[in-house]
Amino acid sequence: MATFGNLSARLTDTFKNLRSKGKLSAADVDGTVREIRRALLEADVALEVVKEFTAKVRERALGDEVNQALNPAQQVVQIVNEELVGILGGEQRRLQFAKNPPTVIMLAGLQGAGKTTLAGKLAKWLKGQGHTPLLVACDLQRPNAVTQLGVVAEQAGVAIYAPEPGNGVGDPVKVAKNGVAEARSKQYDFVIIDTAGRLGVDQELMQQAANIRKAVDPDEVLFVIDALIGQDAVATAKAFQEGVDFTGVVLTKLDGDQRGGAALSVRGTTGKPILFASTGEGLGDFEPFHPDRMASRILD
Ligand code: GDP
Repeated sequence: MATFGNLSARLTDTFKNLRSKGKLSAADVDGTVREIRRALLEADVALEVVKEFTAKVRERALGDEVNQALNPAQQVVQIVNEELVGILGGEQRRLQFAKNPPTVIMLAGLQGAGKTTLAGKLAKWLKGQGHTPLLVACDLQRPNAVTQLGVVAEQAGVAIYAPEPGNGVGDPVKVAKNGVAEARSKQYDFVIIDTAGRLGVDQELMQQAANIRKAVDPDEVLFVIDALIGQDAVATAKAFQEGVDFTGVVLTKLDGDQRGGAALSVRGTTGKPILFASTGEGLGDFEPFHPDRMASRILD
C-alpha cells in the first residue's frame, strides 16, 4: 500500500516534539499546526484542503478536549487522525449495485492513469466474489487499447465485448450500448466499460465520455487518477467532475506515491468518495479504499 514516506516522517517528527511537552500552550498548538501545514503542502496536498484541515485541527486542539485530556499531545494526534479520516471520506463507501443486474461501471480518466489495468483488477476482484463481469472495450482511440483489454480479460479469466477487428474506428457509444445489451442477454451481472483517455483534459474526450454516460446510464462512473500527478490532481479531477460527473474515485499507483497528496486532495476538493486503491501493475494489486486505514498509514 502507499508508503506516504515523507508525509508520515514529517508528521511523526512533529508529534515527537509535541509529546515531550506536558500541558500545551496556544503557542505549542500553533507551532504544531504550522508544521502539519508545511508537511501537507510538501506532500502536494491542495492548498484549499490544507487550509480547511489545519483550521479544524487548530480549533479542536485549542479547545477543552485537549485542555482537559490526561495526555494532551496524544489527544492532538487523535484529532489529526480523526480529521484525516474525515478528509479521506469518513466511512468506507462500497460499490453500488444495480437493483436489476447488470451493474454498469464506467471508467474515465486520462491516458495512462491505469483504467485498462483497473478494468482487469475490478473484474478479477468481482469474479472472486462470485460475480460474472463482462469487460467492454470503448477505448477505440488508442490502436492497442482493445488488444490490451483482451489481454487483461484473459488474465482475469473474464469475458470481453469488443468491436470486430477491421470494422474501422467504430463508435464508442454504440459499443457501450451493445455491450450492456450483450451482458443483459447473456446474464452477466457486471459490465465494466473502459473508455478512451488523452494525455491532457480535452473537450472531445470529455464529450465522448459524457455521451457514453448518457447512453448507458451507469450505476457507477469511476474517475481513475494516477496518484503520482501530484498538484495536477485537483484541476484534472475538477475537469472530470464537470465533464462526466463521476460517482467515485479510484487512486492508482499508490505503490509509487511517496507524497500522498493526491489522495487527500481529490476527496477534499470534489467531495466524491474514493472507492478503490490500486497499488501495482499486477491484477491482484488492488483493494477497496478504507479512509481510516489510510489515515493510520499516514500517521504511522
Ligand atoms: P490507461 O491508459 O488509463 O488505460 O492506463 P493503463 O491501464 O494502460 O496503465 C498505464 C501504465 O500504468 C501501465 O504500464 C500499467 O501497468 C501501469 N499501472 C496501472 N496501475 C498501476 C498501479 O497501481 N501501480 C503501478 N506501479 N503501475 C500501474
